[in-house]
Amino acid sequence: MSERNRTEKRRELQEPGEQREKRALGDLRVNASRIEMRITELGEIGRNAGGGMDRTTFTPAELEAREWLKARLRELGLESRSDEAANIWARREGSSDRSENLPVIAFGSHLDSVPNGGRYDGALGVLLALEVMEVLAENDIRTRHPFELVSFSAEEPNPFGLSTFGSRTVAGKLTRRHLEGVRDPQGTLLVDALRAAGGDPDAFERARRRPEELAAFLEVHIEQGLRLLDRGIPVGIVSAITGIYREDVIVIGEANHAGTTLMANRKDALMAASELMLAFEAACREHPSEETVGTIGTIENRPNAANIIPGQVRFHLELRGRSRSDIGEALEAWEREAEAIMARRGVKLERKLLLDQPPAVMDPIIAEVCAKEASRLGYETLSLGSMAGHDAAHMASLTRAGMLFVPSLGGKSHCPDEESRIDDIEQTANVLLHSLLALDDQLNR
Ligand SMILES: [Zn+2]
Repeated sequence: MSERNRTEKRRELQEPGEQREKRALGDLRVNASRIEMRITELGEIGRNAGGGMDRTTFTPAELEAREWLKARLRELGLESRSDEAANIWARREGSSDRSENLPVIAFGSHLDSVPNGGRYDGALGVLLALEVMEVLAENDIRTRHPFELVSFSAEEPNPFGLSTFGSRTVAGKLTRRHLEGVRDPQGTLLVDALRAAGGDPDAFERARRRPEELAAFLEVHIEQGLRLLDRGIPVGIVSAITGIYREDVIVIGEANHAGTTLMANRKDALMAASELMLAFEAACREHPSEETVGTIGTIENRPNAANIIPGQVRFHLELRGRSRSDIGEALEAWEREAEAIMARRGVKLERKLLLDQPPAVMDPIIAEVCAKEASRLGYETLSLGSMAGHDAAHMASLTRAGMLFVPSLGGKSHCPDEESRIDDIEQTANVLLHSLLALDDQLNR
């Protein structure tokens, strides 16, 4: 026995059991090469010829990714279950010897992607949740609380028009009523797609979880912006998630002959829509908060023929902001302009609310635990708001929720170039692991 080993041994003998256990826990680290290998492996499922990710929800590729995840969980001896919204949950029981019936600490993200997206959005959060389960299993760690990995269904906007589908259902915000008659543009019923993915539309509300079942939820995600990268900081701790407001707007004018209708007699829906869109952009630009942002990302012109004055234009208008009142102010500024444009051009508007998700504040205790664990590990962190919506926003209405961000190279996301560095991923994964263990230790004492 070397001198060093002897000293170690002596210290072990002198240390009380619990303290020794804590020191061993503190030494745990994730396996970066395993994470890297799995990013590559999962990144092959749904990869298109251009290197982008086509793993839209409920498509064959997305169903294959689900099976891939379940197989990895099985290898760990974890049984996974699909709930009625086809969310995948895998449970690792907490310690039983204290006869405590503690609520669940959950963590995860989503496996679906936008069309031609990247390998990291959502998938990284699921892979790091899986890595936590791996580390706990190989070190035979027993937590006080049950730990559950979750992969939420249909987080991204999808052909069924329902984003953050899985987490909204778990939070009790989506019910069977919302599924009725919903089809994708090919005519597939959402209820059929849901069944094929392992869900159960007939007992849909059973996917809802009660607040008392959960102790905390923690999600890792790529930042999808440049704030961390620009500052050279590996780990972001999210303070709040932006609110998102989305409307379906139809501008109704009058289709007519492109030659015989004089300019003075036209009710051109496309020209009116153009003015409405520019007025919308101006309302967002002029709003005092730089976190108030507005986008018109889809447009449909009818009848869309060279010799017909457009009679109807439909677009989706989206606003994001850090508070409800910021979003409301920008929207009202646009509405005032819209009234004037409609009157001048003789068109009408039909507006339908698609989403009105309030900003979600992340739990300060979780944020504090994450900051403390990161600092103990020697990693620098930045507290920042999320400008993208996430499943954690809905989980926050159910339990204390937190999010960690990994820097995105070039700030790029929702595109094939989406990438994060393995060193940043490794550090964030270690913060995730140790924050979960610290929460397990601190909550419900
Ligand atoms: Zn995502």
